[in-house]
Amino acid sequence: MKNAKILITGASRGIGQAIALKLSQEGFSLVLHARQDESLIETISQLKEGIAYETITADLADPNQVKGFLSALKKAHKDLYGIVSNAGITSDKPIAYQPEKEIDLLLQVNLKVPILLGKYAMKHFMKTKKGFFVNISSVVGEIGNAFQSVYGASKAGITALSKSWAKEIGQLVPDHEVRFLTVSPGFIETDMTDQLTPAIKSLYKKSIPSNRFGHPGEVANLIAFLLSEQSPYINGSEIKINGGIA
Ligand code: NAP
Repeated sequence: MKNAKILITGASRGIGQAIALKLSQEGFSLVLHARQDESLIETISQLKEGIAYETITADLADPNQVKGFLSALKKAHKDLYGIVSNAGITSDKPIAYQPEKEIDLLLQVNLKVPILLGKYAMKHFMKTKKGFFVNISSVVGEIGNAFQSVYGASKAGITALSKSWAKEIGQLVPDHEVRFLTVSPGFIETDMTDQLTPAIKSLYKKSIPSNRFGHPGEVANLIAFLLSEQSPYINGSEIKINGGIA
């Protein structure tokens, strides 16, 4: 699969950036997404030299920009092999006080966009009969978390999508090499967890058997393994990477 073209959404920072750097080391060609080209400069500067890459921008909170994003993918990336649907947001609040606007935004970016991206991928993969799609979910989607209920629901939702799509392509295309997966990280050191107060961080750490937050590179290593020739029979699965949280 060396040279295969992979789209990574949210490749400007954190987990998405680490995945981009690792996949560039592995020889994949990349389509890097963020809201603005400028925010991809840091990622691009760290890619393996000589690696092929393109950029694509869209604010996934804006349905019109999502439309444009999907039609740009259709037009310019007919050779796409895989998608890492990673871009995501949090907005932590007690549900009793969470404004409906915030609920809509969480569902738009974390759930509706992966649905539309998967719909696009499914049509594409039904033609190419080869492909890889991974949703980046969260431990919060597995076990829940106070003040993150909508975030958790969106993450549980995308896990169900991957499981269902793996079954769906199996029924629609008898002879294929397409996989839909979920990777479900625990607490990982990124801008997203930097927003937490020291008290909350230390509370979360107490729930982690490995006694630490994970590093973005550890998630990236898992994605590289799932894309490698070592793992063609892992399909539909939700793979947890969370330091032992159960
Ligand atoms: P992060 O550091 O906050 O980075 C988020 C990425 O998503 C950025 O590249 C950002 O692009 C992009 N993004 C955010 N809102 C967007 C929007 N409206 N339109 C387009 N792109 C947008 O987050 P992270 O911690 O790496 O998280 C990555 C994924 O892993 C998320 O889905 C998150 O839910 C999941 N996750 C994270 C953790 C954790 O502990 N960090 C744990 C479990 C799961 P811009 O630069 O354009 O803003």
